[in-house]
Amino acid sequence: MAFQIAIDGPAGAGKSTIAKQLAKKMGILYVDTGAMYRACAWYFIENGLDANQEEAMQQALEQIKLTLTHDKEDGSQHVWLNGKDVNPFIRTAKVSDMTSRICVHPSLRCLVVRQQQQIAAGMDLIMDGRDIGTYVLPHASLKIFLTADPLVRAKRRLQELQQKGDQTQSLESIYQQILERDQRDSTREISPLKKADDAILVDTSNLTIDQVVQTIYERAMAQKKNEV
Ligand code: C5P
Repeated sequence: MAFQIAIDGPAGAGKSTIAKQLAKKMGILYVDTGAMYRACAWYFIENGLDANQEEAMQQALEQIKLTLTHDKEDGSQHVWLNGKDVNPFIRTAKVSDMTSRICVHPSLRCLVVRQQQQIAAGMDLIMDGRDIGTYVLPHASLKIFLTADPLVRAKRRLQELQQKGDQTQSLESIYQQILERDQRDSTREISPLKKADDAILVDTSNLTIDQVVQTIYERAMAQKKNEV
């Protein structure tokens, strides 16, 4: 049976950084599901659609072909939309906001989840998102719910932006965006952000990245032994 780790949690909890390092340490694939939804949001913005136009969105979805590739050297993921690598465009605040608005639509989620499950079939991997342990991979070998205090998450996001040379956002505005995204992601009707009953809760507020990676790695190794 494939060894699969599901990591869910709110924005800024450290999911992608931790999942990427853990996947490298374990020599398995890392799939960032948020990037797939972000790519769709970018396409809708580019084509002048707004998140409330569900019918138009459904039609647009028929025009979208998403593909994921992974760098052999560092394992980083690239999302391709209709043959274009959209990675450079999907991390803006505008795309983040649009993503959590479109993610409430069942037609979009169905399409993207089906693709995630196809990618995961028979593969050892780490997949992160909001509904991986509860919905996409309900039989994952290990489920982690990663969280952190919202202010800590906002400070991390600010630091990340500043390191990229983006000085345009204040801590207060990032904090508000995070709260809004948390609210939308956890209260939507379909696949809300929620800890799976059998997920292990890890609060990263006062932990370093290395500490979190090591904690999950040890859990994963223990689980692997159990499965043999
Ligand atoms: O993880 P990331 O911040 O890139 O996700 C962007 C947005 O995509 C989230 O705020 C959420 O609305 C949505 N998402 C989702 N289900 C997933 C992954 C992401 O609804 N599995």
